[in-house]
Amino acid sequence: MDLNNQARHILRTIFGYEDFRGHQGEIIAHIVAGGDALVLMPTGGGKSLCYQIPALVRPGAGIVVSPLIALMQDQVTALRQYGVRAAYLNSTLSPQDAAAVEEALLRGELDLLYVAPERLLMPRMLNLLARARLALFAIDEAHCVSQWGHDFRPEYIQLSVLHERFPEVPRIALTATADAPTRREIIARLALDQARVFNSGFDRPNIRYRIMEDAGSAREQLLRFVRNEHDGEAGIVYCLSRKRVDEIAAWLCTKGLTALPYHAGLPAQERQRNQERFLREDGVIIVATIAFGMGIDKPDVRFVAHLNLPRSLEAYYQETGRAGRDGLPADAWMVYGLQDVITLRQMQAGSEADEAHKRVERHKLEAMLGFCELTTCRRQALLRYFDDELDHPCGNCDTCLEPPRTWDATVCAQKALSCVHRTGQRFGVTYLIEVLLGKTNERIQRFGHDKISTFRIGAELNESEWRQLYRQIIARGLLAVDVEGHGALHLTEASRPVLRGDEPLMLRVLQKSDKPRRAPRQDTRRAGRADGGLWDALRRRRKELAEEQGVPAYVIFHDATLLEMVEHRPATLAQMARISGIGQRKLEAYGEDFLEVIRDHSEDDANTDTTVETLQLFRAGMNANAIARHRGLKPNTVYSHLSAAIEKGQVELHEVVDLDEPAMTAIHHAFEQNEGGKRLKPVYEALDGKYAYELLRCVKAAMLREQEKQPAAV
Ligand code: ADP
Ligand code: ZN
Repeated sequence: MDLNNQARHILRTIFGYEDFRGHQGEIIAHIVAGGDALVLMPTGGGKSLCYQIPALVRPGAGIVVSPLIALMQDQVTALRQYGVRAAYLNSTLSPQDAAAVEEALLRGELDLLYVAPERLLMPRMLNLLARARLALFAIDEAHCVSQWGHDFRPEYIQLSVLHERFPEVPRIALTATADAPTRREIIARLALDQARVFNSGFDRPNIRYRIMEDAGSAREQLLRFVRNEHDGEAGIVYCLSRKRVDEIAAWLCTKGLTALPYHAGLPAQERQRNQERFLREDGVIIVATIAFGMGIDKPDVRFVAHLNLPRSLEAYYQETGRAGRDGLPADAWMVYGLQDVITLRQMQAGSEADEAHKRVERHKLEAMLGFCELTTCRRQALLRYFDDELDHPCGNCDTCLEPPRTWDATVCAQKALSCVHRTGQRFGVTYLIEVLLGKTNERIQRFGHDKISTFRIGAELNESEWRQLYRQIIARGLLAVDVEGHGALHLTEASRPVLRGDEPLMLRVLQKSDKPRRAPRQDTRRAGRADGGLWDALRRRRKELAEEQGVPAYVIFHDATLLEMVEHRPATLAQMARISGIGQRKLEAYGEDFLEVIRDHSEDDANTDTTVETLQLFRAGMNANAIARHRGLKPNTVYSHLSAAIEKGQVELHEVVDLDEPAMTAIHHAFEQNEGGKRLKPVYEALDGKYAYELLRCVKAAMLREQEKQPAAV
């Protein structure tokens, strides 16, 4: 088989995909042939296969440099599920385990080895590599080499040493965010001038961008959004401050959602635990400062919400990019208000960076603010910013779906600006609005501002509308914010033409009240999920399998794979093998399990509720194994019916399992020691594998039942 056919064969048999996507095929052929490459591809575009497959085709191990050690383990776990020989080396390994990995490398028993950059650069590691057979170097998140970017990693700069030490080993650098200057920087710093550049653009067509005004109740707006559009789904909510993170997470919990905080002020253990739960459990919302997310490659994050403006479009794009890596529809949703604009302007004005950096910061801020106030397609603007282009409006952002109306705001803007001028450019928005509306309070009288020409000339707008108007003109740079941080505004050069009336100023129509502007989107997107029963049943099975192994659910199968099962309802292993994302190893490991869920569900359709049938047989005196034989099901399935019945209180635990007192105590103890059995694997292991997973699941169901009966302890 020639090498390219071999690559395709691996794609099909190991990863279970029919065809290469976009440039994948070309990139892989180029690397397999020994060339260097710079790959620009959006998140979710399929960058990993671009180095994983060549590493499998070429002799030796592929060395992957990845900045985030926290997630190496999950990446390696996922690869092993495909039957790929993968390992990682980082500071979390014990010296013995690290030594074992090194030996495996030298013996040629690894296909892929993930290494943190700082470790890779140690002389010891480089010497080790020199003694091993190497297939390639993959440098992930290559934009970390850029000093101007927000992810700068000094170690990345030294990665050029790879080229010097191993000139014959092909290198592939990959990134999902890099404007033209950053690309040039990557090429220069990593000595990639001979590399072929593969540019797939940065568009994420499945992400819907929406930005709305904070109408005084951002968190209510958020709650409505999550409830209406993402009930029970995983998402990330970004806030600027730690305090706000804690507050929002707690508040969402009181509303019945599973929301966990994440920020640098939390104890490392708690942070770690919350991140794990987000990765492993279904439907967890993480509320975080920007400290969260780098390297998070959870594929089924269905929304990213911002409750504050990010500092730059780079940050916005990268944060929102964490949604929908699996290619299914996802939302990037943001609310922002006047205070956000003022805060960012202040931060920028107060920056202590040198002139060159300041210029860059200013440019980034303007781009971010401009993006918010946009009245044309957001995606086109976003892509243009990254030197990519889209020649038509996208149809999947708020401005495309519901084009904002604009109005000639020249006269109102003139009033707002002259009020700043007349009051001496020393006051903040709240005061200015009081003057415009003609409030007579002590402060206004003391300053004599009830005597100036702009006093009480603003009756045509209410307070909320004036705030929106100020926000828009500050965002447009007609007003600047003081450096001291009191929020005083002063005029800029850009305000002159407006004050003179040289050109009309068109702004977005102001919102009258805080009512949501548009009806929530009807969720017709997830056609496959209309069949809720099967979808839920598949997810349940996946969760059980994941718990047994202590891995995140998506490592078993992605949502996209389950959705295909719902659509095609495979009835045999051969049909199952045709579902995207199921290679040989996974077919063998899980094919039967999921076929059974599908079969079981078809019975549901025929109106013989399978759980009920199990329950009837159980009541008739059969035990689980007998029922399984009788019904031609796996015992596993019968136990999962029974544990559901236990949780609902239809049967008692002791009727299903026969455990004596000491055994029960030991099991309960093991649950307590392991987060109440969030993951079953640690419980199973703590009990030395003495009790089967089915049995533990039944005990857990009984415990959940107990908890439900008691009033919530919070
Ligand atoms: P990136 O690293 O570019 O963000 P990934 O490598 O994680 O993207 O891939 C994103 C998703 O697309 C994964 O679920 C992956 O399994 C899937 N994928 C990649 N290549 C293909 C392909 N050729 N056919 C189908 N799915 C693919
Ligand atoms: Zn659009």
